[in-house]
Amino acid sequence: MVTDAWGRPVTDIRISVTKRCNFACVYCHDEGLGPVARPHAPHDEELSVTEVERLVAVAREYGIRSVKFTGGEPLIREDLEEIVERTVRQVPDVSLTTNGSLLAGRAERLRDAGLKRVNVSLDSLDPTAFREIRRGALAPVLRGIREALRVGLTPVKLNMVVFRLTVASIPKMIDYVGSEEGLKLQLIQFMPELVQHARFSVDLREVRAWLEAHASRVLVREMHHRRIYLFDRTEVELVDPVRNPEFCANCHRIRVTHRGELKGCLNRNDDLVPTRGLDDAALRAAFRRVITTRVPFYGGYVTDLPAAPGETALLARAPTPGPADGART
Ligand code: SAM
Ligand code: SF4
Repeated sequence: MVTDAWGRPVTDIRISVTKRCNFACVYCHDEGLGPVARPHAPHDEELSVTEVERLVAVAREYGIRSVKFTGGEPLIREDLEEIVERTVRQVPDVSLTTNGSLLAGRAERLRDAGLKRVNVSLDSLDPTAFREIRRGALAPVLRGIREALRVGLTPVKLNMVVFRLTVASIPKMIDYVGSEEGLKLQLIQFMPELVQHARFSVDLREVRAWLEAHASRVLVREMHHRRIYLFDRTEVELVDPVRNPEFCANCHRIRVTHRGELKGCLNRNDDLVPTRGLDDAALRAAFRRVITTRVPFYGGYVTDLPAAPGETALLARAPTPGPADGART
């Protein structure tokens, strides 16, 4: 296992297989490369199956034990099953983050290829609000979630971005997640850094306080020191990276862009290390470089980080979704 200069072991890699997407979410950061400008046409620059395989082989040499595919929308790639199949031969723990719209027809094949789990982005259970946020239809996404559960791609983690248009429906989402065995919820703080929509931000302190008041227990996960709130029938994880040095101090992840550049931090683009066309020795050196140049906290590298929001989150005073005995760990 390789540890960076700040003592953080690097155990995870997140690989973007495309910049293309069939949605156009209002907040999209496209894995830190700026908003997806709806590039539907195939990109010559996308990593090939063989290129992914080679990157994963070197990642494994460096002790990376978990691979997540993302995008753009990874299911736009018709060869994703093949990518997964070749990846699991080297690193068995392979998962996927998807908008879910194309998942229903492929969940079983992906499972057969060796995929272990999926994260499906679900910002709202209301079709109109969902379309307003994601510019796409809700029904196929819900079908995708059901199919992922049926074929055992579990836990199915639902990613909900917490921002102005979603914050009031968090309690409803917790109820939904608790109603189906195998679902978990990840509340992802809206990241304004790379999309410049500071107006979307909400004050997360109020969300945290609400979760603490309503959960039965709070745990802390090693990765990013994320808080996990346990409700009666479900788990809710809070992913809160914005201006959060503690999050960065516990980050064990590096990334690969769809063009094959290694990236040490989601929020930086000045640390891209190209890998295309490198021989084995140079590819290993590229991995060493991206790991050794990781920064302890991205904040100093973002020159125009929008000011913290003064607004108060309008979290609905909804009924308690679970018991609240106040126990903490
Ligand atoms: N297309 C896939 C999807 O939507 O799940 C995978 C790529 S998407 C970039 C990965 C995750 O990042 C999604 O859950 C999405 O909601 C989230 N995301 C995108 N832009 C964001 C932002 N500005 N702040 C917080 N999360 C964001
Ligand atoms: Fe971005 Fe994913 Fe939305 Fe596509 S579905 S626009 S990649 S967040």
